[in-house]
Amino acid sequence: MTSHIRDVPDYPKPGVVFKDITPLLAEPAAFGAMTAEFVRIATELGATKVVGLEARGFILAAPVAVDGGFGFVPVRKAGKLPGEVFAVSYQLEYGEAVLEIHRDSFQPGDRVLIVDDVLATGGTAAAALQAIRECGAETVGLAVLLELTFLDGRARLSAEAPAMPVHAL
Ligand code: AMP
Repeated sequence: MTSHIRDVPDYPKPGVVFKDITPLLAEPAAFGAMTAEFVRIATELGATKVVGLEARGFILAAPVAVDGGFGFVPVRKAGKLPGEVFAVSYQLEYGEAVLEIHRDSFQPGDRVLIVDDVLATGGTAAAALQAIRECGAETVGLAVLLELTFLDGRARLSAEAPAMPVHAL
């Protein structure tokens, strides 16, 4: 799978190596293998819903929901969801961003797996975790394709949710 991920140096700004997953998405066998692995993780964790983080998390999480028989819930950037939302703001390298989730996204007893492409500092996933918590649901894990270990996102997440498993394919 990793052979289909392209490193793009200095994007979107100097010093950042962007992990471009579009070659993987264009390769059905690799996309399918990744999806199957996410479905296996979600099933093992007893998930009932998968949350995809805008935007690449949507692409990865949607087939997991369909193939595994889980509900799909989007976590979106501010101002995109039409219903009542919970909003969580979080720090970016420069400035702040806001993630939103529909308040009625979950039913009692729902168990949530968060899916995204890259775990970097963990700020995005930590904000999603908080938003899901506001809804009253339990997050049973985070699954990503890639983890940038030097940014130590796991430490950030374990401060939020010490027992939550983090899977990086
Ligand atoms: P963070 O909140 O720092 O963990 O960043 C994770 C979010 O930013 C994910 O939704 C990724 O899509 C994106 N991201 C962060 N760093 C990279 C990178 N080097 N390449 C691609 N996407 C990234």
